[in-house]
Amino acid sequence: QHALREYPAQAIVDMRVLRDNMRHLVQVVNADPNSPHTAVMGVVKADAYGHGLIPTALAALAGGATWLGTAQAREALLLRRAGIGEDRAHILTWVNNPLMVAYDELIKEHIDVSVGTLTALEHIVAAARQTGLKARLHVKVDTGFGRNGFTLAQFDEAAAALKAAADEGSIEIVGQWSHLAVADAPDVPDFVEETDRQIAVFEEFTRRMKDAGIAPQIRHLANTAATLTRPNIHYDLVRPGVGLYGYEADPAMGTPQDFELTPAMTLQAQISSVKTVSAGHGLSYGRVYVTDEETSAAIIPVGYADGIHRSASGFNETGSKHTTRLGAPLRVMTKDGPRIMRVSGRVCMDQFIIDLHGDAEQLGVHIGDTVELFGPGRGADFGEPTADDWAAAADTISYEIFTCLRNRVPRLYE
Ligand code: PLP
Repeated sequence: QHALREYPAQAIVDMRVLRDNMRHLVQVVNADPNSPHTAVMGVVKADAYGHGLIPTALAALAGGATWLGTAQAREALLLRRAGIGEDRAHILTWVNNPLMVAYDELIKEHIDVSVGTLTALEHIVAAARQTGLKARLHVKVDTGFGRNGFTLAQFDEAAAALKAAADEGSIEIVGQWSHLAVADAPDVPDFVEETDRQIAVFEEFTRRMKDAGIAPQIRHLANTAATLTRPNIHYDLVRPGVGLYGYEADPAMGTPQDFELTPAMTLQAQISSVKTVSAGHGLSYGRVYVTDEETSAAIIPVGYADGIHRSASGFNETGSKHTTRLGAPLRVMTKDGPRIMRVSGRVCMDQFIIDLHGDAEQLGVHIGDTVELFGPGRGADFGEPTADDWAAAADTISYEIFTCLRNRVPRLYE
């Protein structure tokens, strides 16, 4: 029974924080004179960015979201099957792979679907005919992202097919939408221009739809970054994802606290072993980290098989042909209070090591102590590491830090 309880780390998700982040986003949007009635979607794709689909969806709805968004149809269906009915939330699924999706199930569950190719439209229309129900569509426009959606050049063909499907009663065109590529860099002039250009394409598409006799009620474009910095494009609905989880799209925009957001996930682990090692002792694979002096090494039993990025490893110069690089920070409790310590050497499959830079006994660090990899603070510079610090160490973005956490790491809700 004991062995079954062994887990490498715990991701504690604070449901109140999720709710309050959403509440704040709703308030920011609706307090703006541009968008007093704009609705807010909680983007809960990818298992709610690793936070857990159903608990997060419930927290987002409690915070005032009236829409939920998923990339995969499967996740949209799970939301309905968990009892989130159409009276509680509109659900939109982008459907990334229309060839693999049972649209009839989505239509029966009153789940809105995105359409950005004629092939997807054909599948949707076939499913609508088969069920005898109307599919609710959001027409995706590629305004410059280069991924999903009809480009302006495809407009005529797309509009003709949409109109024909609407006229035969298979579809209702509910929305028109697009996704921004560089909204998270509001102080980079080229990127601001690019976002302006994407907005212009979106508006042009709207004009042409109107001329073609298609007038969706709901237009939406804004992700978290645009929700917070571009009130002129809130339109009828905004789609924040990362903000719900308490992060900014790019830490260059500021700390979560600058935007009155709080990271909702705390990742903790317990020290599984502490021992003294001599000066010049290598730590972990590749001898990319070598102790400068006699020190204590603490082992943390979580590794890349759990979703800890190997690129968050720490290298020091001694004995290494690699460039020195600080490992990701952790908060370790010592008898004099919390201290930032760092991943030392390479992250292994199931473990990593931290050089405590001192004697564990004197520091008051013991086997079984809980360390915090990241949590709800302002960042490592303030003694409170966040997923942004792990992202910086691993050369990625916070999104990937929490989304990559594997199921071996239980999510605990409080
Ligand atoms: N809308 C779409 C289509 C997305 O794919 C995403 C996520 O990438 C979002 C909105 C939310 O973006 P963010 O997490 O940056 O707010």
